[in-house]
Amino acid sequence: MMSLDNRPVYSGGCQCGAVRFRVEGALGDASVCHCRMCQKASGNFYQPLVSVRGAKLTWTRGAPKKFQSSNYAFRGFCGECGTPLTYEAPDGVALAIATFDHPEEIAPTIQWGVEAKLPYVDAIPALPGKATLDDPEAGTFLRGIVSYQHPDYDTETWPPEERP
Ligand SMILES: [Zn+2]
Ligand SMILES: [Zn+2]
Repeated sequence: MMSLDNRPVYSGGCQCGAVRFRVEGALGDASVCHCRMCQKASGNFYQPLVSVRGAKLTWTRGAPKKFQSSNYAFRGFCGECGTPLTYEAPDGVALAIATFDHPEEIAPTIQWGVEAKLPYVDAIPALPGKATLDDPEAGTFLRGIVSYQHPDYDTETWPPEERP
């Protein structure tokens, strides 16, 4: 999507929808960081982040709660659902790539902190892989699931008025 003055526009937010953001302008470096702090802050093997230092970041619904992870940086997350959202340092903010509504557009180009890389991370692409519907019983189970995850676009109201 583009803004009226032809700048790229991105949107995204946390899993529950209490926190939503909008970014206008060009994104900076997209990376994954293997450092132990990023592992903890993301609850994951490594943290994918994209710098929005050179763009305009607006919180369009709510705002992240913050944990000061060092004398240098803060980690922002949704206070309602816990989704990791930001890495905030004096030189700028980076957003968690998978919280964008279209993370497929933001491919990482560099890895940081590789000395802390978990030993099995590089082996994951070689693991056996199955699609969700490969299991014949999954279809029946999945039809019974009602998602409470916020959709990948901005909505008028939050929280949703009714929940089946
Ligand atoms: Zn949330
Ligand atoms: Zn890190």
